[in-house]
Amino acid sequence: MQVFAVANQKGGVGKTTTAVNLASALTKLGHRTLLVDLDPQGNATMGSGIDKSALTHTVYQILVGLSSFDVVKVRSPDGFDVLPANRELAGAEVELVDLDDRERRLRRVLNQVSDDYDFVLVDCPPSLSLLTLNGLCAAHGVIIPMQCEYFALEGLSDLVNSIKRVHAGMNRDLRIIGLLRVMFDPRMTLSQQVSEQLERHFGDKVFQTVIPRNVRLAEAPSHGLPGVSYDPSARGAQAYTAFAEELVGRLKGH
Ligand code: ADP
Ligand code: MG
Repeated sequence: MQVFAVANQKGGVGKTTTAVNLASALTKLGHRTLLVDLDPQGNATMGSGIDKSALTHTVYQILVGLSSFDVVKVRSPDGFDVLPANRELAGAEVELVDLDDRERRLRRVLNQVSDDYDFVLVDCPPSLSLLTLNGLCAAHGVIIPMQCEYFALEGLSDLVNSIKRVHAGMNRDLRIIGLLRVMFDPRMTLSQQVSEQLERHFGDKVFQTVIPRNVRLAEAPSHGLPGVSYDPSARGAQAYTAFAEELVGRLKGH
């Protein structure tokens, strides 16, 4: 089982879109996949086709030790499993502080199901909070989606430093798997420039696959489907499928 956190402390940069579409694409490639929604906004839950307002159990109960994995797990219409979230999860941030092993709660739970999944994707909230820390402590690697904008690189150093701190103090397994350029608009000179800058700084840590800005990806959540299932022929969907293939290939070492 490989656990990947999809993280970037900025909001609206494509974390959830990446997590949901990657989960679906990996499932279509035949991999047993679990998506963990660690954001109280519950967007990954909704985007997977699960109604967050109808949930009786969420990842919140798992983190604070009130429920077990099997009780909380939901199968999405696309066939991957989800540990869903809703607003209830916002309370976990406060409650976790008083619990022992507070940053390793998710890791402990995932350890119990390590034989049941090939891939676990953790959709992190837009912060470097205790919830994100749970994601980073549970993960083998981090996937960083980013928009090629002027301030993108600035925020990146905070994230890279947090990852280094977690690596040094809490989780020696953790590494950056790669940076994924998302919502890319090749007609913008600035996008090209930031993209080239990224390649210079991070070399082969930058995934070759680039996710274009594509309205079908943005429409998909309102239909309760990942973009790769909503319109598989759309450019965005095809890019996420190519990204899943690149990721799996990279892990095999080619
Ligand atoms: P985050 O989880 O980092 O906050 P989201 O994945 O929710 O970011 O994306 C923010 C917004 O951008 C959402 O409305 C989403 O539908 C849209 N979006 C994400 N990726 C793309 C894309 N490649 N093309 C067009 N819209 C996108
Ligand atoms: Mg999100």
